[in-house]
Amino acid sequence: MNEFVERLVDLRWPSAVKPAYDVVIIGGGGHGISTAYYLATRHGITNVAVLEKSYIGSGNSGRNTTIIRANYGIPEAVRFYQRSVDLYESLEAETGRDVMHHTKGLLWIAHSEAGVRQERARAEVNTAFGARTEYVSPRQIQEICPQLDMTGQGQWPIYGASYHPAGASARHDRVVWAYAEGAMRLGVDIHQHTSVTGLQKSGDRIVGVETTAGPISAGIVLSAVGGHVTAIAAMAGVRLPIRTHQLQAFVTNRYAHTFAPIVASSGLGVYASQTAKGEMLIGAEIDRAPAYAYDAGHQFIRSCAFRSIALLPFLRDLKLLRQWTGVCDMSTDYSPVMGFTGAPGFLVTTGWGTWGFKAIPVGGEQMAALIATGRTPELIAPFSLDRFANDRTMADRGSAGTH
Ligand SMILES: Cc1cc2nc3c(=O)[nH]c(=O)nc-3n(C[C@H](O)[C@H](O)[C@H](O)COP(=O)(O)OP(=O)(O)OC[C@H]3O[C@@H](n4cnc5c(N)ncnc54)[C@H](O)[C@@H]3O)c2cc1C
Repeated sequence: MNEFVERLVDLRWPSAVKPAYDVVIIGGGGHGISTAYYLATRHGITNVAVLEKSYIGSGNSGRNTTIIRANYGIPEAVRFYQRSVDLYESLEAETGRDVMHHTKGLLWIAHSEAGVRQERARAEVNTAFGARTEYVSPRQIQEICPQLDMTGQGQWPIYGASYHPAGASARHDRVVWAYAEGAMRLGVDIHQHTSVTGLQKSGDRIVGVETTAGPISAGIVLSAVGGHVTAIAAMAGVRLPIRTHQLQAFVTNRYAHTFAPIVASSGLGVYASQTAKGEMLIGAEIDRAPAYAYDAGHQFIRSCAFRSIALLPFLRDLKLLRQWTGVCDMSTDYSPVMGFTGAPGFLVTTGWGTWGFKAIPVGGEQMAALIATGRTPELIAPFSLDRFANDRTMADRGSAGTH
């Protein structure tokens, strides 16, 4: 956190960790902090600590491409993400902070007959389960986004698309700060530069954490550590169907014109939008090999620039400004894993992969309800860890980042 941020929001840092909390949340990303926020605001549970090994938002929550949408591929996901779209729309009013939320509309391009069928199916399933999406023709696509090359440079012709009007973006670190401020105001302790190094056990039960600031007892321990979850879960003896993969993105210098919508293509594995400053923000699929490193590669730039220029030739005239990497907790069915783990006292919110920024409000809201009541809310029941043992996986490749 820097001086500017400290002036922008009123963050009341605690002086020292207490020896015990009702709830200890490991990880000061969007999911950890929004869970603390909803515990405090919706359930009056404020004896809560969030422990962050670096600064808040330093993980994927401060590294993503900020796309918010609900146009997923399966009913359970559509309902879940639509709740988050709704919560994002009221987040500024709720927190009193400008998180730069902006509804832009999202086009998902089809480059083949199979792609057309996929986007028609997406529109149907979205609309049936509460997230408005319509199938649009090439003529309509050109009206929504005149910059698209409808021939796809001869290789990737655009046959049609689904259009999701609720597609939006928000400034990622401001979302984290807004939730942190709201939680801290009600008494939640957020400790930066405090790493969890072990879990305390009593029999089978997890009863606290070991940290670089000393041991802390806890009624409940929630892991919200992004790509580092397998290390924390292993401390509890829990094995997760998660692999950690790098995901990279880049921004160009300022594009002089307005680029109104968000554009995504599963066929090309890229998506593009314009930042508030006018830069073009480009995201893509995960790197194939599992990794925990944050290095950014030239190979990614070459391949991703080539693919995005096939859609948007004007990108060729822009310059690359910044490139960065996050490490994503990818579940084997591309859906989140939330709730009980089989280890009493130890919960996870994970599997957020390339799609978890949009889920920060609903993820926090639902995990807070689970912790407060001890029961899994209906909205997240399909995303329990036991689905893998019970052969009820939630296979959803509704992200450009997962192909
Ligand atoms: C390049 C990129 C683009 C993306 N684009 C999008 C997008 O457009 N839309 C979307 O919805 N999602 C997107 N995502 C995914 C999204 O960013 C993540 O799913 C989401 O931010 C996960 O939030 P989190 O709170 O679970 O994890 P994180 O934000 O990673 O937070 C976890 C925190 O835990 C801390 N931590 C780890 N280990 C410990 C420990 N032992 N002790 C204490 N703290 C610890 C870390 O320092 C970190 O701050 C993108 C991700 C990347 C990398």
